[in-house]
Amino acid sequence: MIDNARLGLPDFEPGHVWLVGAGPGDPGLLSALALHALGQADVVVYDALVDPRILRLAQPAAALDYAGKRGGRPSPSQPDISARIIRLAREQKRVLRLKGGDPFVFGRGAEEALALVAAGISFRIVPGITAGIGGLAYAGIPVTHRETNSAVTFVTGHNSAGAVPDGLDWKAIARGSPVLVLYMALKHLPSIVGRLIAAGRAGNEPAAIVSNASTPDQQVLVSTLREIAELSSSAPTPAIIVVGEVVRLRAGLDWLGAFAGRQLDPNPLTREKRR
Ligand code: SAH
Repeated sequence: MIDNARLGLPDFEPGHVWLVGAGPGDPGLLSALALHALGQADVVVYDALVDPRILRLAQPAAALDYAGKRGGRPSPSQPDISARIIRLAREQKRVLRLKGGDPFVFGRGAEEALALVAAGISFRIVPGITAGIGGLAYAGIPVTHRETNSAVTFVTGHNSAGAVPDGLDWKAIARGSPVLVLYMALKHLPSIVGRLIAAGRAGNEPAAIVSNASTPDQQVLVSTLREIAELSSSAPTPAIIVVGEVVRLRAGLDWLGAFAGRQLDPNPLTREKRR
């Protein structure tokens, strides 16, 4: 049990909504606030990306309310989900809105929170570990390293209509940042890679696809930018894609692989350069 008093955790008040990030999968990556909320919520409204092991941490009397796709039917619309959360809060429930990763990173958390503001409902935001940082760390890929990059760009490969976002200046993205982390990009990866290479990214730059990061099904494909486009159809979802020199660091930092016997290279960057 968490010692609420020592951690100074706030009470989960009836009629309030907590918008909480569940992290990329591993229940150990939940925050103390997220765990506290799971222990107190009357209802947990969760998305498809929330790991089932995390839902089992909800208090036994909590209702589990799935807000994703049901039996192949399309997902409820965003206004429907917001309306459901508002209704539950007005019924004086403690409503835990649980989202994969971080609720404010490509997670529509801001939209839901603004709907709560409009409805006059009190809420709290509990950030989570986002797949594009923590998920990559589980693959032994840091998003920054002093020798490779001083900037990182997070991009979505999907707009709200499901297409490659045209509003994005792909040329600027390709040129502006040595490391690119792409969410929701597997489906359109061939077209995204084409745009990046057309804008000047080297086809032989290292790139990786990390599927089911931080879960027992984690799978990592390391290749080059040009080749990951072809591999994308065989990679399971959800998957996060990373492009840039930081991918080379996995040879030294695949700590999960090391538990399974992989030999780690303490100089993964210099070794590559010498070749
Ligand atoms: N709010 C979430 C992102 C939601 S968008 C976060 O902060 O992580 C959904 C996308 O997140 C997926 O298409 C995938 O790109 C990524 N993602 C989420 N969980 C993942 C996981 N366990 N492994 C790999 N990618 C993941």
